Amino acid sequence: MIKAITGTKDILPDQIARWHYLEMIVSYIMECFNYKEIRTPVFEETSLFARGIGEATDIVSKEMYTFIDRSETSVTLKPEMTASVVRALNEHSLDKKQGLNKLYYISPMFRQERPQAGRYRQFHQFGAEAIGSDNPALDAEMIVIAYDILKSLGLNDLTVKINSLGVPVSRENYKNILREYLTPHLKNLSEDSQKRFETNILRIFDSKAENDQKIMEDAPLLIEHLDDNSLENFEKVKQILLHAQIPFEIDPKLVRGLDYYTHTTFEILSGSVGSQSALCGGGRYDGLSEQLGGTAIPGVGFAAGIERILLACENEKSLDLPTESIDLYLVRLDKELQNAAYNLSLILRRNDLVVELDYLQRSVKAQMREANKFNAKYVLFIGGEEYERNEVVLKNMSDGEQQNINLEDLSTIISKIIGE
Ligand code: AMP
Repeated sequence: MIKAITGTKDILPDQIARWHYLEMIVSYIMECFNYKEIRTPVFEETSLFARGIGEATDIVSKEMYTFIDRSETSVTLKPEMTASVVRALNEHSLDKKQGLNKLYYISPMFRQERPQAGRYRQFHQFGAEAIGSDNPALDAEMIVIAYDILKSLGLNDLTVKINSLGVPVSRENYKNILREYLTPHLKNLSEDSQKRFETNILRIFDSKAENDQKIMEDAPLLIEHLDDNSLENFEKVKQILLHAQIPFEIDPKLVRGLDYYTHTTFEILSGSVGSQSALCGGGRYDGLSEQLGGTAIPGVGFAAGIERILLACENEKSLDLPTESIDLYLVRLDKELQNAAYNLSLILRRNDLVVELDYLQRSVKAQMREANKFNAKYVLFIGGEEYERNEVVLKNMSDGEQQNINLEDLSTIISKIIGE
C-alpha cells in the first residue's frame, strides 16, 4: 500500500470536529475585530518567498518545496502567508480601495523540515495581517486577537513574549555594536552562527547551540539601542496589552533577522506541548511591500500553527466538544421497503434533519446497533402492519416513548424534532 508522505497527516473524521470548532472560533473572533478572510493560491512564483521571507532564513535556504513546472517557471508551495497576502494586496490595489486592509486566513503551509512531534511538512496556520497603517495599536491588536483565540480554545498554559526591533537605521547601528562584541568570540561560535555573522547576525540569538547561547548571554541588546520613536511605539503596545489584561514578558532576544521587519515582534508559547512550544508568532513588517516591488505600505501580522494548538488543547483537555449525535435513524423492518425508506429519509434530510439509514441490507438488530452508535435522538421504524396502515413509528431514544405517525403527517415529526 502507498502511504502518506513523511511529515504529512490525514485528518480523519474522528478529529474533524476539533478542526471545525477551532476554525469557527478563529472566524468568529477575526470577524468581531472586522478582519475579512483572504484565500490565495497554494503555490506562487519562488521569487515571491525568496524576497518576502528572505534568502538568509532557514525557510528559504533549506525548507521550501520548490520545483520547475512544465512552463519552466520555478514555483514554490507556500511556506507562509504574509508574502502572498502582500502580493495579492498590491496586485489588486486593495490599498487604493481601502486605507487599512484587515485580512485573515486559514490555510495549509508546506516546509520540508525534519518531521517530529509538532513539526510537519504540510501543516496548517491561521493568521491575520493588518496592512496600511503603522499605528502601534495594530501591533497590540495582533497579540490580543491571537491570545483571545487561544484562550477561547480553553488554553491556559500560555506565555506571551514581546520585543521591539525598532527601525532599520537604529538596527544597523546596533548590528555594528553586536559585530564588535562578537568578533573576538567568532571562532568559538557554531558553524551556523559563523555563517549568520556574515548574513544575518541578529539570528545568532536564535541559535540552540549551548556555547553560542553562553556567548550571547552577555551580548549587547537591540532594545537598549532603540531610537526614541521606537521606544514610544513599544510603550504604546505595552500599555494596550496591560489594558487588555494580557500578561506578557519582554524578551530582548526575540529577533527576526530581516531588514524589513520593524518594531514589534512577538511569540505565544505553550507549556504543554513539549519542545516545539511556539504556538504563534508575528510582528511588524513595514518594509516588506517595497521589498516585493510594491508600494511602501506598513503592515503587521501573525501566524499560528493549528496542529500545535490542537495538541496543546488535547494535553490541557481544554476542548469541551458536545457529543456527536444525529437527529434520526430510519430503521427498515422489511427488506423490500428499501426505496420507501430512502424516499422518506430524503424528505427528512431536505427538511434539515440529520438522518441516517442502512445501506448494507442489515438486520433490524444491526440497524438498531448502528442507531445507537450514531447516538440517534430518534429512531423511525418503517414496515410491518403500521406501514400497511400508512403509518411509521417514532421512538424517542432518551425516554423510550413511542408514537405512531401517519405518513401524511410527516411534517409533524419534522417540527417536533426540529422544535427541540
Ligand atoms: P512561523 O511562520 O515560522 O513564524 O510559524 C508560526 C507558527 O506556525 C509556529 O509558531 C508554529 O505553531 C507553526 N509552525 C511553523 N512551522 C511548523 C511546522 N513545520 N509544523 C507544524 N507547525 C508549524
